[in-house]
Amino acid sequence: MDVTLFNTLTRSLEKFVPLHEREVRMYHCGPTVYDFAHIGNLRTFIVNDILRRTLEYAGYEVNQVMNITDVDDKMIARAREEGVSIQTLAREYTNFLLADFKALNIITPHHLPRATEHVGGMTVMIEKLLRDGFAYVASDGVYFEVAKAKNYETLAHLNLDAETEARVESARDKKSPRDFALWKFETSDDHNTAYDASFGRGRPGWHIECSEMARDALGETIDIHTGGVDLIFPHHTNEIAQSEAANGKPFVKVWVHTEFVMIDGQKMSKSLGNHTTLKTVVEKGFSPFAFRYFVLGANYRSKLNFTWEGVEGAQTALTRLESHIGADVGTINADYQKRFMETITADLDTPRALALAWEVAKDNSLSIADKTATLLDFDRVFGLGLASESADSRLGRRIKSVIPANIEALARMREAVRLAKNWAESDKIRVEINSLGWNIEDTDKGPKISKLDRKQ
Ligand code: AMP
Ligand code: ZN
Repeated sequence: MDVTLFNTLTRSLEKFVPLHEREVRMYHCGPTVYDFAHIGNLRTFIVNDILRRTLEYAGYEVNQVMNITDVDDKMIARAREEGVSIQTLAREYTNFLLADFKALNIITPHHLPRATEHVGGMTVMIEKLLRDGFAYVASDGVYFEVAKAKNYETLAHLNLDAETEARVESARDKKSPRDFALWKFETSDDHNTAYDASFGRGRPGWHIECSEMARDALGETIDIHTGGVDLIFPHHTNEIAQSEAANGKPFVKVWVHTEFVMIDGQKMSKSLGNHTTLKTVVEKGFSPFAFRYFVLGANYRSKLNFTWEGVEGAQTALTRLESHIGADVGTINADYQKRFMETITADLDTPRALALAWEVAKDNSLSIADKTATLLDFDRVFGLGLASESADSRLGRRIKSVIPANIEALARMREAVRLAKNWAESDKIRVEINSLGWNIEDTDKGPKISKLDRKQ
């Protein structure tokens, strides 16, 4: 089955044709792990997951990579603030992110490369760019010379003449304000993040990380690259410039960008201080699956206005949809399956795909067992945990329906941080579960949850 995707590069819907038959090489820009992910970030990661699941549903084999940015200015500032090493900070927030992934039923990508593990490769790429005349050394770092790049304007549809000096990076001896840093020389302020390189000790700029990690994991030309719309310029524009200059080949066939989660008419972001985390969603009594349903209710190319009423509506809808799942699994209805395949492969049309699930749920000509089979088939892409089995953990299955969704979600988050051996956070979550009136006990067969006896 063909998959159609909206390619930011051409600003059009295109039939997806992989570079290698039936195999898709896909890279996602991941988080900077200096803080909790907010639900805007998580929308983008859920969309990445839907894209992977859709490609797999359509019969492709996907090789999925998401990077972890663990060296940059924000990391340095936060590590200093908290008095911990950058490594500790990165480890903690990566664990939190993976716990969110687990709670949201986001399949962990096949590779999660960390920037600090790939600095050697980045310096090789920068050496090549210097040698070939695409980069130059200035007083505070190495810069990419934008004037040397071919088609720099294409992805972002920039008009560079009209574009004011948007990128302000400080070196006084930069050739043009648009030139961007590939490497920043060591300063006394660096919190021990400098690496040796032939062109001078320092640390990589943000953009070069993704160019190198994508090349290392997937090769010089990849099928799909994704991120939020804020990354189109300058991050992805600069990734293309560097990679194509260094490798002499097209970098990416299809660029997929997810629109923002908005709150009161503004982009949700840490810097605006208007962000909400998954933990808050759960503490308010909602299941992470309700948030996932809320995200699927909008097309990924539309802005998604976050409201608590919206999440509540999603939770009610999801509970009703779950009530159509029976104990016996019959046969998948072929007509509905075909319509589902057509809908979801049409640029990931999740709102129409959900509407189709409701059509199945309400179709009285189908037996409950066949409805169940058909809805569970759709759920391979939705990932809404409609079957307790697909709720992806032993834990989810055992506690479903008896334990409230928010306790279930906290228990899953705790399980994920325990797997990562983050005992301090696991204890914190246990205390939180206790404060909500539940007890969690680790047994040989996994965690056991029970109502806390208040008299104890
Ligand atoms: P960051 O950790 O800020 O680099 O962001 C991680 C991912 O989340 C990137 O792909 C961003 O484009 C995306 N992102 C950031 N803010 C939002 C938002 N409000 N809505 C949707 N995606 C976002
Ligand atoms: Zn990136």
